[in-house]
Amino acid sequence: MAKKTIADVNVTGKRVFMRVDFNVPMEDGKITDDRRIVAALDSIKSVFSRGGRLILASHLGRPEGTGLEPEFSLAPCAKRLAELIGRPVAFAPDCIGETATSMAMALKDGDVLLLENVRFHKAEKKGDPAHAAQMAALADIYCNDAFGTAHRDEATMVAVPKAMKAAGKPAVAGFLLEKEIKYLSEAITKPKRPFVAILGGAKVSDKIVVIKALLEKVESILIGGAMAYTFMLAQGKGVGGSLVEKDRVNDAKEILDAAGKSKCDLVLPVDHVCGKALTSNTETTVATEEIAPGWLGLDIGPKTVSNFAAVIRKAQTVVWNGPMGAFETRPFHVGTQRIAQALVDATKNGATTIVGGGDSAAAIEQMGLANQVSHVSTGGGASLEMLEGNKFNSVELLDEK
Ligand code: AMP
Repeated sequence: MAKKTIADVNVTGKRVFMRVDFNVPMEDGKITDDRRIVAALDSIKSVFSRGGRLILASHLGRPEGTGLEPEFSLAPCAKRLAELIGRPVAFAPDCIGETATSMAMALKDGDVLLLENVRFHKAEKKGDPAHAAQMAALADIYCNDAFGTAHRDEATMVAVPKAMKAAGKPAVAGFLLEKEIKYLSEAITKPKRPFVAILGGAKVSDKIVVIKALLEKVESILIGGAMAYTFMLAQGKGVGGSLVEKDRVNDAKEILDAAGKSKCDLVLPVDHVCGKALTSNTETTVATEEIAPGWLGLDIGPKTVSNFAAVIRKAQTVVWNGPMGAFETRPFHVGTQRIAQALVDATKNGATTIVGGGDSAAAIEQMGLANQVSHVSTGGGASLEMLEGNKFNSVELLDEK
């Protein structure tokens, strides 16, 4: 990437406003998965270890934007970060205002401050410049390390760095952002071939644009998950009680037509593991061709697993977004697990293998295989948009090397 990174700027004695993605899952005020915090540690350490004064900003969840909502407070993240870095992390009760400003100004070399959830203000999502100016005034250097939010033009992603750049201050990328962009943009712009995309998950609607874009770029698209049943409907096949999006059948038809005319091989499941209900102890059967009434398709079947795995093992670039079935409920995890294993095998054969964020990232983590593929992204929506070939304003505006 031709963008400057935090390693390219002298941070000693300087206040660095770093936008991170601490949008971690929480239950009852406790963090259930701290991977997103861990993923930002390299950039964070790089600042305080060189005597920089760090001001961290993030969103968490989807609050109303009308002030503090305790369940969306970042306070637990400040505590967790302090444990991870073994030094105190101060916590400001708002991202703007007198307290945030005085806490930012009081920072000494090597200190770390986390601001409260930036989405407690509606102006954040709106990308409001006047609101952003208040945060821009807190620091001397801007750093974007929030890949998970990079596709959104929110204030801390775009208006804050713009205001800082206008004041002659550097705006640079963090190491996580750099790594994510490197893997995803290289996969799209100069893939080693064959290039295979695996798409799954519940909804076709989220992935129509990416499938259309990938038809022009990849040799094969393998479709699993409930999404495949909307394609089966489009082919006039029975799907029983499986999860489908009836209002997307026309889109699925359009994609099948486009695939027929393209050089890309769109591969659908040829068999399905079905249950009577989405529960662990339900009766199961394997359906081929059609799914009978009274049954739900909940995972790809064994023949599909071997078809998909054969394509994946021959690939040199693989991107995967979306589980192959309802993997959270056993025994419907098997298809997703086998596909994860095929990615690991492809990696051993020298392929570049990339797992998009969200559920497929969670699945490969759970299976203990995350460190056996080339890259597991921290951003679900952002990684899909990169695969669509979109450029992000939040990245484009950063300083060139
Ligand atoms: P998405 O957010 O569209 O990537 O969907 C992810 C979700 O799809 C996961 O929670 C899976 O459990 C679910 N899913 C995948 N396949 C199926 C299926 N055949 N039936 C029901 N849910 C599924």
